[in-house]
Amino acid sequence: MTAPRIGVLALQGDVREHLAVLESLGAAALAVRRPGELATCDGLVIPGGESTTMAKLARIFELFEPLQERIAAGMPTFGTCAGMILLADRVEDGAPGQETFGGLDVTVRRNAFGRQVHSFEGEVGFAGLDSPVHAVFIRAPWVEAAGPEVEVLARVESGEAVGRIVAVRQGPLLATSFHPEVGGDVRIHRLFRDLVASHTTT
Ligand code: GLN
Repeated sequence: MTAPRIGVLALQGDVREHLAVLESLGAAALAVRRPGELATCDGLVIPGGESTTMAKLARIFELFEPLQERIAAGMPTFGTCAGMILLADRVEDGAPGQETFGGLDVTVRRNAFGRQVHSFEGEVGFAGLDSPVHAVFIRAPWVEAAGPEVEVLARVESGEAVGRIVAVRQGPLLATSFHPEVGGDVRIHRLFRDLVASHTTT
């Protein structure tokens, strides 16, 4: 089997960290800035960063519509933090006129944990993994509401936000509020790599 070809949207944000994790898992990883690069991908990671900036840059780089089309056509896509916002069909507390690629039948709340809570870390149980993941949240969104096709994979387990949804899957779309590319735990990326591989061979 050839290695799945997994792009990382490289307009802004923590691109390099995702590329390094994907490469360590044996994927053929590439930075995606052009429609021609997107066209070669079996799957895509949309990294953390700033969702409004990434959406604007996607327009400027003429990637916005190609991305929407590939996602709607079932390309496995993994959004982390700002990437989760960009995959969401609906955004609360977004910037005026904020656009998303959409695809995930969820409402996300941007900067949901409060403006003063810039970042925090915690353990969360994750469906399909046999021990908790160490989750790093940086001005993170949460999923305020999820449609019937959406599988909840993780929720905040303590503190004021206990019970809030922070990881979801809907078919080939995966999203986390937190940043699994930092901290050395590659298990969620491995789940995504396997998701891409299973889509590529069927
Ligand atoms: N708060 C950012 C946004 O709205 C996301 C932060 C992140 O990706 N770490 O896009």
